[in-house]
Amino acid sequence: MSELIGSTISQIRSLISGKQVSAKEVTKTYLEHVKRNDKETNALICLTEELALQQADTIDKKIAAGEDLPLAGVPVVVKDNMCVPGYPTTAGSKILSNFIPPYQGTAPTKVFDSGAICIGKGNQDEFAMGSSNENSGFGVVRNPWNLKKVPGGSSGGPAVAVAAGFSVVGLGSDTGGSIRLPASFCGIVGMKPTYGLVSRFGLVAYASSLDQIGPFGLCVEDVALTLSTLVGKDPRDSTSIEDPFGKFNTKNFPKLDLKFAQDLSKKEQSLKGIRIGVLKELVGDGLESEVKAATENSIKTFRDLGATVEEVSVELIDIALPVYYIIATAEASANLARFDGVRYGVRDMDAKDIVSMFTASRKAGFGDEVKRRIMLGTYALSTGYYDAYYKKAQQVRRLLKEAFDRAFEKFDVLVSPTSPTVAFDLGEKTDDPLTMYLSDIATIPVNLAGLPGISVPCGYGREGLPIGLQLVGQQLSDAHLLTVAHAFEKANSFTSRRSPLLETACVR
Ligand code: GLN
Repeated sequence: MSELIGSTISQIRSLISGKQVSAKEVTKTYLEHVKRNDKETNALICLTEELALQQADTIDKKIAAGEDLPLAGVPVVVKDNMCVPGYPTTAGSKILSNFIPPYQGTAPTKVFDSGAICIGKGNQDEFAMGSSNENSGFGVVRNPWNLKKVPGGSSGGPAVAVAAGFSVVGLGSDTGGSIRLPASFCGIVGMKPTYGLVSRFGLVAYASSLDQIGPFGLCVEDVALTLSTLVGKDPRDSTSIEDPFGKFNTKNFPKLDLKFAQDLSKKEQSLKGIRIGVLKELVGDGLESEVKAATENSIKTFRDLGATVEEVSVELIDIALPVYYIIATAEASANLARFDGVRYGVRDMDAKDIVSMFTASRKAGFGDEVKRRIMLGTYALSTGYYDAYYKKAQQVRRLLKEAFDRAFEKFDVLVSPTSPTVAFDLGEKTDDPLTMYLSDIATIPVNLAGLPGISVPCGYGREGLPIGLQLVGQQLSDAHLLTVAHAFEKANSFTSRRSPLLETACVR
């Protein structure tokens, strides 16, 4: 059965619908692989074995009854900031180590209803704050390409799960790059959809105006298929978009639905007539030479596919990082105020009064990075500083969105490296938060403007580590972006390379 490990959705689907294998067998094989190999990577905070086996039984019954589900028997790892009842939802924080939600998030519900099997909850940086997955309260996550390297954060767990073959797809969240960066470092595909396309109900909030749930997969098609099951208005998230591809879709972008995703591989691979803009500010200094070379190669690939490629400057992109760290920390300081030892999670039992109970619970429960962000955000929101920092940052955010709009008058898709570097050593940047923050320089502007962005493998750099290319589209052009990413993927063979950990599991 080990030949199942490393499969894509369509491979699992054809085996299951052809009755060559049952959902139960797939599930057991993946659970076994995790148990044997996750000690090295620490990708999962908890294995949801009982749930997985139950779901597999249900799927097998449905298949026997002739039901056709798009993700039937497809193993998924869900980032631990999304609620799945019966198991802890920690968001990577000690303060939530005993929190078992009584309800389920919309995104997990949607993939489970589509037939996916929950293998486990993915490790992550605490409250999704980080770029390397070294801020987790449950230990660092290691990169399956090289166990001395970080997997990227904050959704390192689900990214590693896919790259190591612990699941076929993963669900992550991306506030400033947390899906695209780990996808890039782990040599897989990861997408942050247009803000509002996927409901955030049941997602532990970090910075609500930036947070977005999205999928990981071994290939663009798997990301498209998973995303097609996730989209749609949810009455429990007021920012989710009503009829996203109807009245709001003024530009008539293709609708991102199951049919689109299932037809993706049949699409013509030519990019004739597509105008690609290379984000000038993100391809200059500060890139590792291999990343620069891989980006140049990608540009050549786009040209070979018939697209036109030119450099484009998006004003203010170079100051997106400070703007993000004001807005994200301000929202985080408000969102994290609810963790006080009263309603959720761990409570300090020795405190003499309520105020010292709040303080002691938060002091023990939060890690250093979270405390740093709460302090920064509280400062930015305090009287006298609100106008100078928070309001100013929101104004710049608006101008940045307008600069992107102008770029999209001339270009269909914008590209840049996902990260200036390949995966770095564990511990290399932990003492220098500002250098760490720079890992997200290319991904953060996309969240500030609410745009869809995808990272696709585009080469290999230092020590054979994967490099990712970021493709960015206009709001609600998610399906179009996936079409371009898919054509790019098919024009090279980078996505077919597997991490050493996955490779060994396959030959066993
Ligand atoms: N690394 C960025 C941060 O720490 C982005 C994290 C994310 O996207 N959740 O805030």
